[in-house]
Amino acid sequence: MTHTILHVDMDAFYASVEELDDPALRGQSVIVGGPSAKRGVVAAANYRARSYGVHSAMPSSQALRLCPEAVFLPPRMERYVEISHEIHEVFQRYTPLIEPLSLDEAFLDVGQSLKLFGTAEHIGQEIQRQIQEELGLAASVGIAPNKFLAKLASDYNKPYGFVVVKEDAIDAFLTPLPVTALWGVGKVSGKVFQKLGIETVGQLRGYSRELLQQYFGSQGEHFWQLARGIDEREVVPEHEAKSISNETTFGQDISDRELLLGALLALTEQVAGRLRRAGLKGRTVQLKVRYSDFSTITRSHTLPAATDITDLLWQTVRQMFEHRLPTRHLSLRLIGMGVSGLAEEAEPQPDLFVDDEQEQQSQLDSVTDTIRERFGKEALSRAGTLRRKKD
Ligand SMILES: [Mg+2]
Repeated sequence: MTHTILHVDMDAFYASVEELDDPALRGQSVIVGGPSAKRGVVAAANYRARSYGVHSAMPSSQALRLCPEAVFLPPRMERYVEISHEIHEVFQRYTPLIEPLSLDEAFLDVGQSLKLFGTAEHIGQEIQRQIQEELGLAASVGIAPNKFLAKLASDYNKPYGFVVVKEDAIDAFLTPLPVTALWGVGKVSGKVFQKLGIETVGQLRGYSRELLQQYFGSQGEHFWQLARGIDEREVVPEHEAKSISNETTFGQDISDRELLLGALLALTEQVAGRLRRAGLKGRTVQLKVRYSDFSTITRSHTLPAATDITDLLWQTVRQMFEHRLPTRHLSLRLIGMGVSGLAEEAEPQPDLFVDDEQEQQSQLDSVTDTIRERFGKEALSRAGTLRRKKD
């Protein structure tokens, strides 16, 4: 599957926010950081201060020696968080697949947004322009087929950079870059590169997989791939870290499909009820089965929008159960289902995915929940249970 990834990185973020809030700072060297008297370090410096050699993570005392004229300010994290939310609101106009790396940078997967908005370049330009016009802040944008390349691209031409790395330009883009630009190069691996005389990514590409594994152990494969611009990591939205799931282990192995489906439906109802009680909706539905020989298989399916509707979750997990398990003899000792990609209900869902039927299902679910709460779990058996038996 090909992806189109944007990496958006604010330029000198904390310092730029200070300049925004106090226009008198513009044109001066601005350093944001901990006080030098308390052995603080630089959190951010604007470009004028950087021209004196000041950079982030440098001791504040050293920064003030290099640039005595600098206006030195303590960080105002609450304000940066507030602006970070506003930046994310701009991102959300184009995709729900946003993975923040920090307050001021994020990966966006816009692969699914192209149908609606045209090219990735257009989306990137719009995001850069809207952040500038609406928030008065500069961002750099990198666009590439994967995260690794997009991050390199956003960094390539800062500030207010805009760099696109197309599939057929990957090698040309990487070849002259220093190996230290590669993700994962630390002190130890940096020294090995030095010893081998490898300075550029182009030189690194001349080394075989086997040789790199010999020099770098398991990291060798990683470097071999990066040298070719290969990076399979997905954009993982922040809220996808969480999940709600439930499973049942049987007292004896079960091969009766009807019994297994019944257990799966019961689990789905429990998970959906937990979602609704927590005020959460999920996008990714998982199925887990463990066979009598203890081999375990999981399957997942990501819906176009987050949901807490029992029927939609049930149809999704049943679909996986019927069509996405190996065709071998079904004899299970465990079955489970879960939902991840959770988002708070308050978060607006894109309108284009909500239809009337879902609205009705949602109302049915809340009625069901109310009756269950009042009369106990067994009070209602879903129409789905009956429908299932007719199939
Ligand atoms: Mg930044």
